[in-house]
Amino acid sequence: MAGMVLRVRAAFLGRRGFASAAAALEEVDLTIIGGGPGGYVAAIKAAQLGLKVACVEKRGALGGTCLNVGCIPSKALLHSSHMYEEATHSFAKHGVMADNVSVNLPKMMEQKDGSVKALTKGIEGLFKKNKITYVKGMGSITSPNEVKVELTSGETQSIKTKNIVIATGSDVAKLPNVTIDEERIVSSTGALALKEIPPKMVVIGGGVIGIEMGSVWRRLGSEVTVVEFLDKICPSLDNEVSSMFLKILKKQGMKFKLGTKVMGAEMTESGVKLSLESSKGGSNETLEADVVLVAIGRIPYTEKLGLENVGIKTDNKGRIDVNEAFQTSVPNIYAIGDVIRGPMLAHKAEDEGIVCVEHIAGGPKPHVNYDAIPGVIYTEPEVADVGKTEEQLKEAGIEYKKGVFPLMANSRAKAIDVGGDTTQGMVKILTDAKTDKVLGMHIIAKGAGEMIHEGCIAMEYGASAEDLARTSHAHPTVSESVREAAMAASFGKPIHM
Ligand SMILES: Cc1cc2nc3c(=O)[nH]c(=O)nc-3n(C[C@H](O)[C@H](O)[C@H](O)COP(=O)(O)OP(=O)(O)OC[C@H]3O[C@@H](n4cnc5c(N)ncnc54)[C@H](O)[C@@H]3O)c2cc1C
Repeated sequence: MAGMVLRVRAAFLGRRGFASAAAALEEVDLTIIGGGPGGYVAAIKAAQLGLKVACVEKRGALGGTCLNVGCIPSKALLHSSHMYEEATHSFAKHGVMADNVSVNLPKMMEQKDGSVKALTKGIEGLFKKNKITYVKGMGSITSPNEVKVELTSGETQSIKTKNIVIATGSDVAKLPNVTIDEERIVSSTGALALKEIPPKMVVIGGGVIGIEMGSVWRRLGSEVTVVEFLDKICPSLDNEVSSMFLKILKKQGMKFKLGTKVMGAEMTESGVKLSLESSKGGSNETLEADVVLVAIGRIPYTEKLGLENVGIKTDNKGRIDVNEAFQTSVPNIYAIGDVIRGPMLAHKAEDEGIVCVEHIAGGPKPHVNYDAIPGVIYTEPEVADVGKTEEQLKEAGIEYKKGVFPLMANSRAKAIDVGGDTTQGMVKILTDAKTDKVLGMHIIAKGAGEMIHEGCIAMEYGASAEDLARTSHAHPTVSESVREAAMAASFGKPIHM
């Protein structure tokens, strides 16, 4: 963007000391509030397109929820705890004898913290490389062209800006009568940093985060019970997948109380006592735990953001309303990621950030294909999906075909069979009955989170199941199950079944 001017004006609030010295006042093309996957990726893309960019982040590290207390630390612990479970449950079956395997929790946490630190520092490096001004502090919008920052150093700084992107993300949803203290009653953030393995853990909420964190602690030795209001876990999953997943988790030792709501929590000398009720009413009971994890979801975060100063309103779920170009009711103020509608996923925030700033830089009308955004649950086996579920297709009255291939019949899964886990699962492909176009893909398999991209690409390019079935797949791979499921959908029969 030639001709864009960076105007820097120093402003100091005097030397009396009561007001922190205000730092330089800058004019930039774009100020992004929030340095999570939505904000930091948008900042890098905007800088690559030639915009002068400032990114304001209050937590003292870039990467947002995802890198600091979300995707990355949870996947680090999921991997470490899975290694322990393999060593204690599966090695012997493969003739690998390992005695006295034990958990060194501080060491496990150290490895997790190390990976987080390396990645967040890596983003700082990318900011420097792309000449993005990283402003450490709490940003609030004072007018459509000004963001005021309470710097972590105690000073305040005002940034003059042509455009603003709000990427302030989300926060933990709270449950009435269950107060989180991050020691005995924890959010996902506390569950990522427990100092001891709790003998008994209750997870409130059978969604992705609850199941992932519950799996970590179950593998490390906790007796884990998941209490879920609905009659199914991970409610956005295809019903067939959700029931198969539930069976697998139960076989692994996780306990469930479905159709149950938590009415309150009482601290006891040794832990927490929860009072439960059937979600349909009646039948009360209590459940005791050493640690309770509250994982009932996340809510958009707009605290102290100054939305009222510019007349931007939030909906009944606290989300900022935007149009297709991610513009709020103020045309030069945009919003992306967890703070707006749509699934709360890091890659969805990134996708929105990229197309939003491309548009600000003069590019085409933004487009995100929300039908082709994958979701992954990083358990073992993993669960991954993209596109429509059978229930959604039925509800929309779309005639569909279904091709299913069980992993039991996949040679790679059989060859690497780890404690019976690797052969559990399936690939299910849903296609348009008339055109054979892929409408949805649902996988439970080791590595499903990698395999699902075959479905994403197919859907982005409008591929048919026959296209997938005629595409050469390396042998032996678990991905051959995708090809077999595509054959089942398109030709009515796979080869290996
Ligand atoms: C335990 C856990 C596991 C998860 N695992 C996955 C996963 O495997 N895959 C996946 O896709 N998603 C996962 N998520 C969800 C993912 O983390 C979010 O969808 C993603 O981080 C959203 O990105 P964002 O940029 O919109 O917001 P965030 O990542 O929340 O970033 C927003 C940033 O804005 C900052 N901020 C807020 N207000 C201000 C302000 N006024 N001034 C300055 N800074 C401000 C915050 O400090 C924060 O750093 C997980 C979440 C959790 C909690």
